[in-house]
Amino acid sequence: MEQDKLRNKIAEILAGGLETEVWPRAATSEQVNEIVARLQNEADDDLEKKLVIAGFTDHVIEADGIEQPCETCMYYKVHARFCELPELMLPVEPHWSCRLWRI
Ligand code: SF4
Repeated sequence: MEQDKLRNKIAEILAGGLETEVWPRAATSEQVNEIVARLQNEADDDLEKKLVIAGFTDHVIEADGIEQPCETCMYYKVHARFCELPELMLPVEPHWSCRLWRI
């Protein structure tokens, strides 16, 4: 399936050491808006730029004592293993994380 291939490709990119903007996490609505605007203006359809700006990791990040895996994020679709944040719309793994994580 195409989504599985793309998920594997993202996993390879992350395992290959792509440096993403893991910090700061988007703690305020201003920070969310800023990152979302950058995704719209700078990344568009460029996969690696999306991963960098959103601060993707292939492991869980803990911020302020809270673990932020995709699987507990409001944008995560469990059965499809898919991120439905409109500016991302990417297949992900439950134990991955990004700084737009939101409960
Ligand atoms: S927005 Fe949520 S589901 Fe999407 S990549 Fe970030 S943490 Fe994962």
